[in-house]
Amino acid sequence: MSTVQGRLRIAVQKSGRLADRSLDLVRDAGLRVVKGNNDLLYRVENYPIDLLRVRDDDIPTFVADGVCDLGIVGENVLEEARNGGPTAEVIMPLGFGRCTLKIAVPPTLAYDSPASLEGLRVATSYPKILRRFLDERNVRADIVTMRGAVEVAPRLKLASAICDLVSTGATLEANGLGPRETVLESQAVLIRSPVAPEPGLQHLLDSIIERMAGVVSSQG
Ligand code: ATP
Ligand code: ZN
Repeated sequence: MSTVQGRLRIAVQKSGRLADRSLDLVRDAGLRVVKGNNDLLYRVENYPIDLLRVRDDDIPTFVADGVCDLGIVGENVLEEARNGGPTAEVIMPLGFGRCTLKIAVPPTLAYDSPASLEGLRVATSYPKILRRFLDERNVRADIVTMRGAVEVAPRLKLASAICDLVSTGATLEANGLGPRETVLESQAVLIRSPVAPEPGLQHLLDSIIERMAGVVSSQG
């Protein structure tokens, strides 16, 4: 009797801020990654593992649903994807992709605390995280969701304030906005599926996680 052995899948960002470091981590863990014949899938030649290369926004769902066994994604994206259904479990922070989700306002807006946003309109790409933050503080504000270019919203009078990812603050400054409040500190995390892999792959999964942990801790 023979059984056909499946393959583990790791979801990584295809291109963008996390893409290179994610691939580095996989390689440093001893996986020899080779390009497949399509862009979506890279193969690991020394283990039965594939890398699924997708938009970061798709990674939490793929891992939560068991389409992928592991994933590398920003905590900001993971938090925003929480929907009350099954969720991916965070294994460990990875020490890269650091950024902060901040509320920022133009100089014309007097800001003392989140209550200053009461009744105002706030533009963001993270409506769920922002809603939770405001609800916890009993602030009622209108949230307008924008996919990008959030920082131009105040100038265009689309919103009085924004809630956006910041790393150096240069983009805020260039748009005449000042950071006032931290909503979330984020970095890339390794996540695993709540759905177990097929039994024959469990040991491999555990050992890959262990090796990635070794790589991360050696980077201190
Ligand atoms: P995709 O095409 O995969 O959807 P994207 O445009 O949503 O890409 P990137 O700009 O590549 O995303 O950012 C990916 C992640 O990098 C962010 O979700 C965040 O976790 C992290 N990150 C680190 N620094 C920053 C920053 N200054 N601005 C935005 N994201 C940052
Ligand atoms: Zn994205």
